[in-house]
Amino acid sequence: MKNVAILGSTGSIGRQALDVVRAHPDLFALYGISAHSSETSFVAQVVEERPRVAVFSRSLSIDVSGTELRWGDQALYDLAADPQVDVVVLAISGIAALKPLLSALRAGKRVAIANKESLVCGGDLVKEVRKQGGGELLPVDSEQSALFQCLQNGRRDEVEKLILTASGGPFFRRPRAELGGITPEQAVKHPTWSMGRKISLDSATLMNKGLEVMEASRLFDFPGERIEVLIHPQSVVHSMVEYRDGTVMANLSTADMRLPIQYAMTWPERVPSPAVPLKLWEHPDLAFYRPDMARFPALKMAYSCLQAGGGCPVVYNGANERAAELFFAGRLGFLDIEDSVAYALDRFTNRPMQDLDDILAADGEARRLVDEFQSTRS
Ligand code: NDP
Ligand code: MG
Repeated sequence: MKNVAILGSTGSIGRQALDVVRAHPDLFALYGISAHSSETSFVAQVVEERPRVAVFSRSLSIDVSGTELRWGDQALYDLAADPQVDVVVLAISGIAALKPLLSALRAGKRVAIANKESLVCGGDLVKEVRKQGGGELLPVDSEQSALFQCLQNGRRDEVEKLILTASGGPFFRRPRAELGGITPEQAVKHPTWSMGRKISLDSATLMNKGLEVMEASRLFDFPGERIEVLIHPQSVVHSMVEYRDGTVMANLSTADMRLPIQYAMTWPERVPSPAVPLKLWEHPDLAFYRPDMARFPALKMAYSCLQAGGGCPVVYNGANERAAELFFAGRLGFLDIEDSVAYALDRFTNRPMQDLDDILAADGEARRLVDEFQSTRS
């Protein structure tokens, strides 16, 4: 029986992680949850699930017995490191997940990690802290889970390359000239997955795939030259590994995040899941295309940032997070997102990231540069 803490329990991944816990009362007990701003959903979760600990960003009074209510950042880091917790599901969005991740790894936890921004920004620091604390990182992001599973079929020195699939987002077939006027409502309508709004937008801009190239490099320790992206609009093949004899191992399933969430929690065991089994005969149209780097600058910039190292991945992420906020607020256009990331990267003086302060400073600088970009537009 494992005690689970779901950080970001009110979000899309958080709610699906709760489903997984509920589906396996023999394997998992819900120990803790945390949320940031969705007070109504959080209160409903506390009342229905009665976790031992529930952390919110600010003080709340809920009339419930058996649950200890805590609030604030430190309470979140403490829950991530709580001695009673066996598995931390990291389902917070954005760089805000970095400190809870470090806290969990320092305490030697298994982290079922959905959040990619923390891996992209945390870089070597996450690696060091994981090594020192003895924590485990098990990927939840569907592509990374697929790679993780395909990599179990051979030795590392037998691997030729990692192949990440990308749906291409809702505008994959639209000419670039038509993308300027895309609204937030259009941008978050993902063709194959139902997800939180920031990652849905990232999928439309291809920033998500850029982040995933860096995420794969961090998780599996492969350089960008050995990570390829293929557009696969049906999202049936979640990613592949090509071995040196030419064999390609692929991971296929229905598009249901509960599968990779559960696998990260139960690995090395595999148990039945709530997901509907794949009916491959219903997908006679599986297609794969090589992405055009000129059409998807977000992808091209990600490869450059990975190559440059230092603070560039942090700036790529921070500029994108800020640009997404401004896009949702109606203050930047859709194509301004990639332009503002390019603007920030152009003006950032790259340097090594020695510690958390360096990372947070580069993140802050990226956000300020995007605000500067936005002010030149209005
Ligand atoms: P959502 O926006 O749906 O949920 C985010 C969660 O994080 C919410 O519970 C939210 O709380 C909490 N949160 C937001 N900001 C903060 C903060 N500053 N401090 C603490 N908690 C915070 O996101 P998703 O579930 O879609 O995505 C979560 C992560 O997983 C992202 O990094 C994403 O890239 C990754 N991911 C998601 C996939 C998906 O299918 N959704 C697939 C693969 C990866 P509240 O609602 O209370 O504000
Ligand atoms: Mg993904």
